[in-house]
Amino acid sequence: MYHPINLPDCPQLERFNELIRLLLAFGLEQTLNQPEAEIEPLFRQYFTENGFPQAGPWFWGKPVAIRRPLLALLALPAAEKQPVLVAFVADLDLAGRFEDGRLQTRNLPPDCANALSHAGEIVQNCYTRILAVDGVPADVLGAIAPLDRQTVLRAYLDAQNRPRDEGRLPELKVCSGCDGRPPSVSDDKIHEDLDHFFPKSRYPLLAVHPLNLTPFCKDCNQSFKRSKDAIGDSDTQVADVHCLDDIFHPYLRPAQPEVAVSVARDANDEPHVVVQPRHNDRQQLARLQSLLYTLDVNGRWDGDLIEERLRPKLEMLLFYGYQAERGNLQLDEVWLQEGLETAVATLNRFIGREPGNVATLAYARWLVGDERGQQDWLAVATAVMR
Ligand SMILES: [Zn+2]
Repeated sequence: MYHPINLPDCPQLERFNELIRLLLAFGLEQTLNQPEAEIEPLFRQYFTENGFPQAGPWFWGKPVAIRRPLLALLALPAAEKQPVLVAFVADLDLAGRFEDGRLQTRNLPPDCANALSHAGEIVQNCYTRILAVDGVPADVLGAIAPLDRQTVLRAYLDAQNRPRDEGRLPELKVCSGCDGRPPSVSDDKIHEDLDHFFPKSRYPLLAVHPLNLTPFCKDCNQSFKRSKDAIGDSDTQVADVHCLDDIFHPYLRPAQPEVAVSVARDANDEPHVVVQPRHNDRQQLARLQSLLYTLDVNGRWDGDLIEERLRPKLEMLLFYGYQAERGNLQLDEVWLQEGLETAVATLNRFIGREPGNVATLAYARWLVGDERGQQDWLAVATAVMR
């Protein structure tokens, strides 16, 4: 959620979400206590009337993933269910919820708990027991192609190969979460998973929502983000984070324009990567807390500096073309200053195009203005080159 990203163009995923909306509406709008055999024809007819004649029998044929929680949902009184349907439909407009700061499904009265739980189980199963396993056949979706996990992964990765932010940014060639390597593809297969930005364990109704699926790299997904909840955790690191206003989001509110990445000397006079809000107000600080808590970009970029992965990257840029000039090249302050200025321009131009450029750019900018840092750098470089 550092770099802005594009939403994929995946009509099958949109249709699957439409089917899920219909499923929940069927279970939440009415109370049916009659035997299964009497409910089945009503269920089939409902999907046929809504333009998906194959979907009714297909969903009904999934006794554990769909039928059992659906029958439990149908048996509940309508008064406990109506608010859940209203909130679910409202939260499908995630951009709208970011505008008013709250997810409605997180603020339902306690007597809706059962309905919310059964509805959540249905949507979560649509992801874990359907989409992540065998997918959805084309005829069920009324589409020309089926929906499976690879199709979805491919759509999310392909979407990053288009210009972003209404054409103001070029395509993305790094992980949007951490500026590292993008999710890997080999033998034409994508080996990484999509991250559920709002974890499906806690936000099951958003388990298949296109804006809740994020193509993060394996490190971000499995080592850092995991099932952390950007708004709901009680960790002291996110003490100031309370609602949607207080978080960044990969699609709806990326961090990149709002945070500044720099390098500064710490109390021990050692350079460190520092991630700060551009405006020092309460909300910006809360958003930064949430970013650092979920993805720890600061710790990872600072780790790269301390373990000297940024330095070799910058050296490569500075010594680009060095072989040709060997013999008459003076490794002095003037050469370094010129080289750093060129490196800053190059790194800036390729932000989001090569892994690690965000932190390396901060390091190069710091070196431009830090005379002692330059002296240390030249001493090491001269020793290496000799
Ligand atoms: Zn990452």
